[in-house]
Amino acid sequence: MEKEARVVKNAGSHYLLSELPVWEPFPAVLRGKTRLGLGTTTNPVAVGDRVLYEPGDGEAAIIQKVLPRSNYIIRKSTNLSRQSHIIAANVDQAVIAVSLFFPEIKLPFLDRILVTCEVYKVPVVIALNKVDLYRDDTPDAVRNFLDIYRGAGYRVIETSCETGEGIDELREACRGRISLFSGESGAGKSSLIKALDPSLDPKIGKISLSHLQGKHTTSLYEMYPFRAAMASGASPSPEPDGFLIDSPGLRGFGLVDLGREEIALYFPEMLRASEGCRFTPCTHTHEPGCAVKAAVERGEISPERYNSYLGMLEEDSKFRQ
Ligand code: GDP
Ligand code: ZN
Repeated sequence: MEKEARVVKNAGSHYLLSELPVWEPFPAVLRGKTRLGLGTTTNPVAVGDRVLYEPGDGEAAIIQKVLPRSNYIIRKSTNLSRQSHIIAANVDQAVIAVSLFFPEIKLPFLDRILVTCEVYKVPVVIALNKVDLYRDDTPDAVRNFLDIYRGAGYRVIETSCETGEGIDELREACRGRISLFSGESGAGKSSLIKALDPSLDPKIGKISLSHLQGKHTTSLYEMYPFRAAMASGASPSPEPDGFLIDSPGLRGFGLVDLGREEIALYFPEMLRASEGCRFTPCTHTHEPGCAVKAAVERGEISPERYNSYLGMLEEDSKFRQ
């Protein structure tokens, strides 16, 4: 009898599966590469994949089939030309840790990440972190950031790992979901993970299932359950609050190559406005009757986002010459 489970860890040809939302990982192997079809990816099965397996009766279970993916995030292999590596599949959302200052986020950089998430069809939650450090001093900068990104349609949660502000809200946003955590180094991604569950500590490598360590080569991407810290005496909940995948740095998930006409499709607010453009396709630069430019002029699309878009267009044309 085939049963369904999720891949929660992959190291070489070894996998751990769990029937989420229950967290009881067990080992599994692939039945044979031919049946799954290797395609152009280096890994036929990735963390987050829903698979059908046959129980192993004391041995490793056997993965029979990978079920269709709702999304997946790939990284192009550097050494193998046309091959790419699937970092994670079927993630419910990406949580992007951002700090306005200390270190200062460059908005065009954030916008590239957001475009990448749109391309991969991964919903985004932005955690505007370290607000304890700068909100009182630079309230205008904070308001401006919120206006830009909430205005574009993104959910932004103001967080502080120092005061605990927003952590419950972030936990609720992650409840029952698989979240890919990412962010520019130093923005506080590791601290946010630790705030969600103090037993997880990405910085000192504690974010690992100690009893499963050392058996196989470590994989960069694996799924972890998280649970809020228990008040003393309370019994732990049977199911985790949610699951997270820690992604090492924003460059961890490679930026995608897009054609000139495609880029604006992944700025959600521009896509919405572009319905009114006189020409299709429209690059929203020089065309007469461009509804996107009109929306920028009316202040409905932020100049910062529009500039990020122009930057991506320009880079694209340099790239293709
Ligand atoms: P990562 O590189 O994104 O994983 O960042 P870390 O979680 O390691 O955080 C970088 C630094 O910022 C560390 O010194 C943290 O203690 C600090 N930090 C993280 N979050 C906050 C916060 O909300 N407020 C303050 N004041 N410091 C923070
Ligand atoms: Zn246009």
